[in-house]
Amino acid sequence: MTNVPELFGSMVFNDQKMKERLPHATYKALKKTIQNGEPLDISVATAVANAMKDWAVEMGCTHYTHWFQPMTGVTAEKHDSFIAPDGDQVIMEFSGKELIKGEPDASSFPSGGIRATFEARGYTTWDPTSPAFIRDRTLYIPTAFCSYTGEVLDKKTPLLRSMERLSNVAVKVLHLLGKNEVTRVTTTVGPEQEYFLIDKKMYDERPDLIYTGRTLFGAPAPKGQELEDHYFGSIKTRVAAFMNDLDEELWKLGVLAKTKHNEVAPSQHELAPIFSTSNIATDHNELTMEVMKKTAEKHGLVCLLHEKPFAGVNGSGKHNNWSIGTNTGENLLDPGKNPEDNLQFQLFLAAVVKAVHEYQDLLRITVASAGNDHRLGANEAPPAIISMYLGDDLGALVEAIIDGREYKSAGKSDMLTGVDVLPDFKKDTSDRNRTSPFAFTGNKFEFRALGSSLNIGCPNYMLNTMVAEELSEFYDELKDASDMDAAVKALVRRVFTEHKNIIFNGDNYSAEWVEEAARRGLCNYRSLPEAMAHYIDKKNVDLFVKNGIVSEAEIHARYEIELEHYVKQLHIEALTMIDMAQKNIAPAVSSFVGKLTETALAKKSLSESISVYAETSLVEELSDELEKFVRKTADLERAVDGAKKYDGDNLAQATYYRDVVFAEMGKLRELGDAMERKTSAQYWPYPSYGEILFGV
Ligand code: ADP
Ligand code: MG
Repeated sequence: MTNVPELFGSMVFNDQKMKERLPHATYKALKKTIQNGEPLDISVATAVANAMKDWAVEMGCTHYTHWFQPMTGVTAEKHDSFIAPDGDQVIMEFSGKELIKGEPDASSFPSGGIRATFEARGYTTWDPTSPAFIRDRTLYIPTAFCSYTGEVLDKKTPLLRSMERLSNVAVKVLHLLGKNEVTRVTTTVGPEQEYFLIDKKMYDERPDLIYTGRTLFGAPAPKGQELEDHYFGSIKTRVAAFMNDLDEELWKLGVLAKTKHNEVAPSQHELAPIFSTSNIATDHNELTMEVMKKTAEKHGLVCLLHEKPFAGVNGSGKHNNWSIGTNTGENLLDPGKNPEDNLQFQLFLAAVVKAVHEYQDLLRITVASAGNDHRLGANEAPPAIISMYLGDDLGALVEAIIDGREYKSAGKSDMLTGVDVLPDFKKDTSDRNRTSPFAFTGNKFEFRALGSSLNIGCPNYMLNTMVAEELSEFYDELKDASDMDAAVKALVRRVFTEHKNIIFNGDNYSAEWVEEAARRGLCNYRSLPEAMAHYIDKKNVDLFVKNGIVSEAEIHARYEIELEHYVKQLHIEALTMIDMAQKNIAPAVSSFVGKLTETALAKKSLSESISVYAETSLVEELSDELEKFVRKTADLERAVDGAKKYDGDNLAQATYYRDVVFAEMGKLRELGDAMERKTSAQYWPYPSYGEILFGV
């Protein structure tokens, strides 16, 4: 039996270990940095480095690495050993300087054109707010990443800055409301992670999965998710073994893995952790995704984190549960028993409503990716239109505030099960709305439009920054008020009135909503290029610059990086399709047609049996489709070639890939899938959807 409390955090240089191993003064200085954001002294770093190294070596480590999150979308690491020469021997050494500063070559990481490729110098800087941990006998040190000239090159630095910015303004606002004991405010996140788990043997036979993470061809299996028998269904033995192993690996790393269940699509699952501060939640989610992949391998499985690995069944997302709490233990998004009298809650709610309305485009942009383009707007995931769901009770309260009416919150009522042996309980004040991209769920907001593979740092720094901006505007408006209650009430009423258009409690999947949203003036950006074009709108640049999160040049760089990344991904997908079509699919169908023809001819010469006609018509159909397929493959090749004329203009090129290349890919796939349905499994070169989705 696993002793979970003992296992938990055993691979983390956590608070308890620091307390045990650091001189008391050092421990206290470090805690001040972690809890209050105070600057860190080099002498503290030296003592911490030494204690960390001793612990790591005791645990069998020989190396350390700074672990960072560049703009590639995956984490990066560069390993150094602890050895230092000592005469003709070596000793294990790790200095404060090495802990604080690493120097990976920055030239091969995307910088969006703010740096020339020969400018190689980049620094990683220790982030003391996220604990170091051990993996594969290596000490991992979470770090931020910037260039020699100081440009931010990662996703962590803006997140840390946004947390600090939000804390500063929220504390000022709380002080206005008389909460003088609050000195720090922290954003918290609990990301629910969806994924697919498939057999490694099938994966190895699919170049599309290997190169792009999703299937580019594949006819639907006779059964998909229509029976809804997989959702919350009993977990298969092999999957359960993987999940248990995964939980243990994550617990060792201090990740609060809590809930696991089967999802809607066959072979799809979900893992949800208990929430933590945004920074740690981001690091832990990155770790979770990496550990999922590695653990799957141990079980002969592959974990797919792509947003849409299979056409025709649900894709994978990530729900970003987000809230704001004080150092005194209060959740600022908790309405309490009487939200109608809770002005503080109303004020913070108003900040979120205004932020989501004014920066809906940024929220859409932050979840845009080649993979997520397949989900957003489809009838399985939140639409590309950003709106908010507040629920019946809060929704009614907001209406009442706008109308200047009295409102009495329904409060929690009893849930009567009607069965004596079942306990009755309090039910929530409102039902859920699964279709809303940004839903209030009791004491937090759930941002649901994230794709499964996304680094959550990005949506969270944007969210924090936009809410910080609104709070700072509120502060300016309220700071000189003589009657604070009256001023807050007036502000809240005005904000709800001006921004009520972002609130929508109905069905976000309906066609009527698309029309209604257009009438309300909400954005509906259906693809990455469409959304990304607004990244550099003046209002968005101003937001980041004014709040000190990233500079104008850095925003432009991020914009270019995202577009370039999208182009590269679609380019790889197109090339993979062409390769599969030419090298395997066309030859396979051709052989099968040859075989059918041979059979038909043989039979024909024996007798004019009726089956001959059936077979010859199949021969005709397939030969026809094959011909079209070969022509379409050539069309796709030409389309890819045509992208060259947009070299140097990332937005135009991305738009071209979306409008032309992606459209051609769709047509080629249709033909390929039609042929798969008719071709003998013996001849078809790839495992089918049925085999992959039901193969574990
Ligand atoms: P729900 O029933 O709404 O899905 P859960 O309690 O199951 O709510 O939580 C879902 C996710 O939200 C979990 O990861 C949980 O840790 C996270 N969560 C709960 N409270 C907060 C909070 N205050 N801030 C951020 N995330 C939270
Ligand atoms: Mg949830």
